[in-house]
Amino acid sequence: MFRKILIANRGEIVARVIRTARRMGIATVAVHSDADRDALHVALADEAVRIGPAEAARSYLDIEAVVAAAKASGAEAVHPGYGFLSENPDFVDAVEAAGLVFIGPSAQAIRAMGLKDAAKALMETAGVSVVPGYHGAVQDAAFLAQEAERIGYPVLIKARAGGGGKGMRRVGDPAGFAAALESTRREAEGAFGDGRVLVEKYMAKPRHIEVQVFGDRHGNVVHLFERDCSLQRRHQKVIEEAPAPGMTPETRSAMGEAACRAAAAIGYSGAGTVEFIADVSEGLRPDRFHFMEMNTRLQVEHPVTEAITGLDLVEWQLRVAAGEPLPRRQEEISMTGWAFEARLYAENPARDFLPATGRLSLFDLPKDVRVDSGVRAGDAITPHYDPMIAKVIADGRDRAEALAKLEAALTRCHIAGVTTNAAFLARLCRLPAFAAGDVDTGLIARSGEGLLVEPPPSDEAFALAALAALGFLAAPAGRDPWERLRGFRLWGPATQSVFLAYGAEEHELRVTPRGEAFEVERGSVAVRLHLLASDGHAVRIDSGGRSLAATVHREGSEIAVFLDGAAHVFSVPDDPGHHGEPAAGGDRLVAPMPGLVRIVSAAPGARVSRGEPLVTMEAMKMELVLSAPRDGVVAGVPVAAGDQVAEGALLLSLEAEDAA
Ligand code: ADP
Ligand code: ADP
Ligand code: MG
Repeated sequence: MFRKILIANRGEIVARVIRTARRMGIATVAVHSDADRDALHVALADEAVRIGPAEAARSYLDIEAVVAAAKASGAEAVHPGYGFLSENPDFVDAVEAAGLVFIGPSAQAIRAMGLKDAAKALMETAGVSVVPGYHGAVQDAAFLAQEAERIGYPVLIKARAGGGGKGMRRVGDPAGFAAALESTRREAEGAFGDGRVLVEKYMAKPRHIEVQVFGDRHGNVVHLFERDCSLQRRHQKVIEEAPAPGMTPETRSAMGEAACRAAAAIGYSGAGTVEFIADVSEGLRPDRFHFMEMNTRLQVEHPVTEAITGLDLVEWQLRVAAGEPLPRRQEEISMTGWAFEARLYAENPARDFLPATGRLSLFDLPKDVRVDSGVRAGDAITPHYDPMIAKVIADGRDRAEALAKLEAALTRCHIAGVTTNAAFLARLCRLPAFAAGDVDTGLIARSGEGLLVEPPPSDEAFALAALAALGFLAAPAGRDPWERLRGFRLWGPATQSVFLAYGAEEHELRVTPRGEAFEVERGSVAVRLHLLASDGHAVRIDSGGRSLAATVHREGSEIAVFLDGAAHVFSVPDDPGHHGEPAAGGDRLVAPMPGLVRIVSAAPGARVSRGEPLVTMEAMKMELVLSAPRDGVVAGVPVAAGDQVAEGALLLSLEAEDAA
């Protein structure tokens, strides 16, 4: 076994690999950019090497710098994690040329699966069913349109070099084909440097089911059952589970067998995932799933497989890379129970999932479920990298128990300072269709506003924020926590007023002590809260005979209230440093964060209508589509595709209202 390995990645996955390496007595080397000097993954590793500036292209994606760091540190092998260089065959070549072991498949296996068209052709010859469509070399627009007709609408145009859910367009009818092809090509050219596409049948009621495979260097291939990743948003996974709900023994063995055949066809070694798309319009059937692509690395959602099999996939990766045979034969691998993983992102679901940045002033995650995290309290989420900050993994004896544990865990994610999708994920757990296991990739999109938008704070949440703003929850250090309250009652003014902003609205709250309680009025609503206990953070109240535990966190002008499974952030508007929601509407489109301009789809003089997408940016690996704030005529576009822009940079302006 290796004595020392380098982990060529950042964040959560580095922490994950270190955990297993440490258990196996293997020393770890982390790499980091300037932005990550103080990051968790650096602190956890035995040693760390700086590899470049914040920009990923000049640090985590710099093959030479990573290989040089590995050599200099005396590591014997390199674990690539996921994303970054993990599926780059040139990186594998460079690692091996330096005399080191790549913890993953051969460069040749990665090349075989790297492009979706070539992978499909290969799978066809291996006898694995592929999604009906055209994946040949001809790229002529008229020819592809003809192929789309043959396949039958709706179709999906897909960049052959695509990944991360990008470079895909669903086309419903022939009229939309030419424009969709054009924009997919442009996006693929920009994002992957390869504009070639394939055209696929768009599955009727699609479910994403993938099989975890493992190969070794002695020709053995096994599978570790399936995961269902159908809960997606814009082709990106949101919550994954294992096993797949509704899976039958016939379909499971057909899928497992097809996945192993795919891996064996390319002499696969290490961890890999064969992704299938299943048409479940008539249930999950053994003849209704097709090969979609293979990911030649450890997958983000591997923990759900670990939970049901009791195996450590990183340990398997290390053993296989060190030349050992697979630890178990197929018949020795079994599964029990059910597991879910939710991806916790720094993003705002209510604002079209805009990635969020900031400092995590509070980062308190539940301790009774598995949490794989790449950050800790006090860390900054910067615009340089992926907004995924943690994965919450819950398991149980059956699906209902695992899902209940996941939901409970998500409501106990107490995070402040950065907007996250935690509450959205918890709401997702409550969707009846999800609870029933009736999932498909369109479920989130169909579920509407109620899922995306935070319900307004309860009266108690408002009242607690008001008490926090007035300082009534804080326990003075080393003194009787009730003294302050008593003092207030003795000589404080009868009623105090405080203004709180919630979203774009401001509210006046009036707080009056009444015996042992506080009466808090907001407009015509009044609640009476008995403060049963408070240490300034964990608070227990009684409201109308109901005893409730809450967490209240104040940082600067922001007050976060966690109560009854909901999280709300208020701010005290007069405090310096308060940032309201950026003004919407108006004449200007500005960059919500630093990033790269990908597509500009309007020119000066063009008439646009409210909501029409005008500029597409990429930041934190996410695509941000910025739309027209109102109907009007474009006055100027000071940026072009390919420009790197700062936060607040003007992207496009509209002619003044009366001129339009
Ligand atoms: P998985 O298939 O393991 O669930 P994802 O598709 O979500 O993983 O991608 C895993 C990671 O790799 C994410 O951080 C994602 O942003 C990144 N990623 C995936 N494909 C690409 C790509 N083609 N280029 C850059 N990053 C990618
Ligand atoms: P990526 O490399 O970005 O992960 P995939 O080919 O794996 O690309 O597709 C990502 C997602 O897009 C799938 O999980 C699925 O939700 C959707 N998708 C892909 N192909 C099809 C298809 N033919 N019909 C319907 N949905 C599809
Ligand atoms: Mg995929």
